[in-house]
Amino acid sequence: MEKIYDVVIIGGGPAGLSAGLYAARGKMSTLILEKDRTGGQIVTTNEVANYPGAIADATGPSLVARMVEQCKEFGAEIKKDAIKEIQVEEKIKVLVGEKESYKAKAIIATPGATPRPLSVPGEKEFTGKGVSYCATCDADFFTDFEVFVIGGGDSAVEEAIHLTKFARKVTIVHRRDELRAAKSIQDKAFKNPKMEFIWDSVVEEIKGDGLVESIVFKNVKTGETTEYHADEEDGTFGIFVFVGYLPQTDLFKGLLDMDETGYLITDDNMKTNIPGVFAAGDCRVKSLRQVVTAVADGAIAAIQAEKYIDNTFEE
Ligand SMILES: Cc1cc2nc3c(=O)[nH]c(=O)nc-3n(C[C@H](O)[C@H](O)[C@H](O)COP(=O)(O)OP(=O)(O)OC[C@H]3O[C@@H](n4cnc5c(N)ncnc54)[C@H](O)[C@@H]3O)c2cc1C
Repeated sequence: MEKIYDVVIIGGGPAGLSAGLYAARGKMSTLILEKDRTGGQIVTTNEVANYPGAIADATGPSLVARMVEQCKEFGAEIKKDAIKEIQVEEKIKVLVGEKESYKAKAIIATPGATPRPLSVPGEKEFTGKGVSYCATCDADFFTDFEVFVIGGGDSAVEEAIHLTKFARKVTIVHRRDELRAAKSIQDKAFKNPKMEFIWDSVVEEIKGDGLVESIVFKNVKTGETTEYHADEEDGTFGIFVFVGYLPQTDLFKGLLDMDETGYLITDDNMKTNIPGVFAAGDCRVKSLRQVVTAVADGAIAAIQAEKYIDNTFEE
C-alpha cells in the first residue's frame, strides 16, 4: 500500500477504461480496479451498432479488447479487486479492496450499473438454470429451444434479435402495449419471423424442478394470469431479463451525493461533492447511458483529475 497513485479508478467498464487511457496518456500513474470481468456491461452484448467509428461487426468484447490495449499502451495498470470502502477525509485518499488497499491523489468512480432483477418468486432459484441477464453469455445454451425476453427497451429488443440466431422462437414480454426501443430496432424485430410478442404483461412467477419448466404471466390490464409450460420434448426454455439497471453505488452511501435511486450526482466536469473524487459513466445521473457517453465522461473525469492534482499537490 506504499505506492501513491495519481489516479485510482473504480471499475473497468467503458467509462473506467476511457478515464484510464486519458489519465495514463497525461502521464499520471494510473490504476484501474475491476471486480469482475473487464469491460463492464458492454461485454455482455455482441451487437454494438451505435458507437461512432466502430468497425461494422464490432462486438462488446472486441471494442473493450481495444480499449484495454490502449490503456496498457499508455501505461495504465489494470488489477482485479473489488473496492469495499473509500476513505476521503485526507488529501491522500485510501481505497479498501477485498484483496488490498490502495492510495491515490484522486479517485474516479466508474462502477456502472447492474441488471435490475424482476424480483419474482423463482427468479433467484433459476438464475443460471434458465434465467439469464446476458444473451451473449448464454444464448448458445438455448439453441433450438424457445426463449422469452422480458422488457421492451433497446437492450431487450436488440438482445431478443440476437437470440433469434440461436433459439427457434423468441417471445418478447412487455408490460406496455408498445415497445420503448428505438424505431430502427423495433422495425428489425417486427420483421423477424422468429419473434413473437406478449403485450401488457408482467412475470408473476418462474417454476421448475432443477431447470425452468413454466412461467406465469399476468395481464396488467385484465388481471388475468396465464401459465406457459415448456414444450414436452424440450422440457425447458430460456428467460432473458432486460428490465432496467441499478447503479452499483452502495459503497458511496453517506459519502457522495446521490439521487433517490442511487445514481451519483456530479457537475458537468464529473466532480462529486468531495474534492478529488470524480464519477463517470452509467453510475451518475444523466439522460443517456451508452458507451459513447460513458467514454466521454471518463475522458472529462481524467482531465479534471489531472487539474485537481496539479492544483492540490503543487510543490
Ligand atoms: C445487454 C446490453 C446491451 C447494450 N448495448 C449497447 C449498445 O449497443 N451501445 C451502447 O452504446 N451501449 C450499450 N449498452 C450500455 C453500455 O454497456 C453502458 O452504457 C456502458 O457499459 C456503461 O459503461 P460504464 O463504464 O459506466 O459502466 P459498466 O459498463 O457498468 O462498467 C462498470 C464496471 O465497474 C465494475 N465495478 C463496479 N463496482 C466495482 C467495485 N466496487 N470495485 C471494482 N469494480 C467495480 C463492474 O464490475 C463493471 O465492470 C448495453 C448494455 C447492456 C447491458
